[in-house]
Amino acid sequence: MEMTESQIKAIVGEVIAKVKLGTPNAQMHGVFTDMNEAIEKAKEAQRVVRVMSMDQREKIISVIRRKIKENAETLARMGVDETGMGNVGDKILKHLLVAEKTPGTEDITTTAWSGDRGLTLVEMGPFGVIGAITPCTNPSETVLCNSMGMLAGGNTVVFNPHPQAIKTSIFAINLVNEASLEAGGPDNVACTVENPTLDSSAIMMKHKDIPLLVATGGPGVVTAVLSSGKRGIGAGAGNPPALVDETADIRKAAEDIVNGCTFDNNLPCIAEKEVVAVDKICDELMGYMVKEQGCFLASKEIQDKLIKTVITEKGALNRKCVGRSAKVLLKMVGVDAPEGTRCIIFEGPKEHPLITTELMMPILGIVRAKDFKDAVSQAVWLEHGNRHSAHIHSKNVDRITEYARAIDTAILVKNGPSYAALGFGGEGFPTFTIASRTGEGLTSAATFTKRRRCTMSDSLCIR
Ligand code: NAD
Repeated sequence: MEMTESQIKAIVGEVIAKVKLGTPNAQMHGVFTDMNEAIEKAKEAQRVVRVMSMDQREKIISVIRRKIKENAETLARMGVDETGMGNVGDKILKHLLVAEKTPGTEDITTTAWSGDRGLTLVEMGPFGVIGAITPCTNPSETVLCNSMGMLAGGNTVVFNPHPQAIKTSIFAINLVNEASLEAGGPDNVACTVENPTLDSSAIMMKHKDIPLLVATGGPGVVTAVLSSGKRGIGAGAGNPPALVDETADIRKAAEDIVNGCTFDNNLPCIAEKEVVAVDKICDELMGYMVKEQGCFLASKEIQDKLIKTVITEKGALNRKCVGRSAKVLLKMVGVDAPEGTRCIIFEGPKEHPLITTELMMPILGIVRAKDFKDAVSQAVWLEHGNRHSAHIHSKNVDRITEYARAIDTAILVKNGPSYAALGFGGEGFPTFTIASRTGEGLTSAATFTKRRRCTMSDSLCIR
C-alpha cells in the first residue's frame, strides 16, 4: 500500500516529537511534561495505594529492593556520567545499602492504650501525595530511598529532581513504577516532569493536592520549602567537623576519617569536611594520614591555587570541582599526584576558605586546637549551626558527652567513619534525607506519615 505525502509527514513528525522528548523518557513510567499532570497522576495512584494492605505495599517495596540490586551498577554509572560527580564503586555500595537496609512497612507502627475507660490507638496514616525535591549529589539514592519510605507510609510522590541529574532520577522513578506494576500495584506511584525547573517546583509547592513537602539540598531549597506555608521536612546543608583528642586511637582515627571523607569523593552531606585535632596528637594524626592513608599534604601555594580553582570569585562552589577525586583536583592546579592519592590535607585556621566552606570534595583541612575545650568550641563554630552531622574520635566518655551536647547535631559518629551513621559499618538504617533543619533527623517511612488517634470510649478493653 502506498502512503500519501501527508501520511509520511505525520509519521516523520511523530518520530521527531519522540526524539525531542528524548525517546527513553517517552517510554518511562511516571514522567510527564507538566507538573500539574504529574501531580494528578500521582493522586490517582494514591487512591489505589491508600486502600492497599500493608502486605501489598511491602510486596512492591521488596520488588523495588530487587530492582535496585539488579540495576545498582547502571544507576551508579548513570549518576557519575550525568553529574560528573562521585565514583562508580562507592555509588554501587550506596545503592546496595538503600536496597538492603531502607526501612519498609515494619516502620509503620501503632501505639495503643487500653484501660478502664476503653481503647485508644494512634496510627500512622499517609499524607497523600508528597512533593519531594532532590539533590544532584545522591540523585537516584535519594529518589529510591524517599520512594520506598513514602510508599511504605501509604503515600505516592512527585519529584522535582535537580536538573543536572534528571536522567538518572527519571531512571530511578521508572524503576519504582515498574516494581509497583510487577507487584500488582498501580503505575505512577512516583512521578516527575521531564524538565524540572524552579517554575515546576513552585507549582508543586503551591499545589492544593500536595500536603507535605520534603526538601533535600542546600540552604536555598530548604528555606523555599519552609516558606511555602505547607508542612515541610528540611534536609539541608552540613559542614561536619571530626574532632580528635589525645585519648583516641590516632592511627585508626586517621584511617576512619580518610575513609569517610573520601567515600564517593566526599559527596555525602554527612561526610567529614574538616578535622579539629588537639595539639598533642595533631602532627601524629597528619603523619598517619600522609604515610598510611594516601593523603597529599598541600603547600601554601597549592592551597591558594585550590582556593582560586574550587571557589568562584563570587564565593560560590565551582560545580566542576564538586565530587571530583583528589587526583583530578590536584591536576586542575598543576600537580600530577601519585597513583593512590585519595585526599588533600593541610593545616589551617578555622576561617580558611577550604575549611569553613562545605566543599563536597576530598579536601580536608586540619585545624589545630590547644586542648579539648578549644577543639569543641572550634568544631561548633565550623558546623555553622546547621545541626547536621559531627564526628569524634576519643576514648573519654565524658568528653564525648560534652561534645555531643555542645554541637547538638542530628548525627554524631564516635570512633568510626561518617558512613557508619547510615548503617554502613554501623547499626541502624540508612537514608539520604537527613532532616537537620526541621529536626526529624534520619527520615524513614514513619517520618512520612501523620498521627491519627482513634478512641473507643468505655468498651473494647477486655482485660
Ligand atoms: P542544591 O541546593 O543546589 O539543589 C537541591 C535541589 O533543590 C535541586 O533539585 C535544586 O534544583 C533545588 N533547588 C535549589 N534551590 C531552590 C529553590 N530556591 N527553590 C526550589 N528548588 C530549589 O543542592 P545540591 O548541590 O543538589 O546538593 C548538595 C547540597 O545538599 C549540600 O549542601 C548538601 O549538604 C545538601 N544535602 C543535604 C542532605 C541531607 O540529607 N541533609 C542530603 C544531600 C545533600
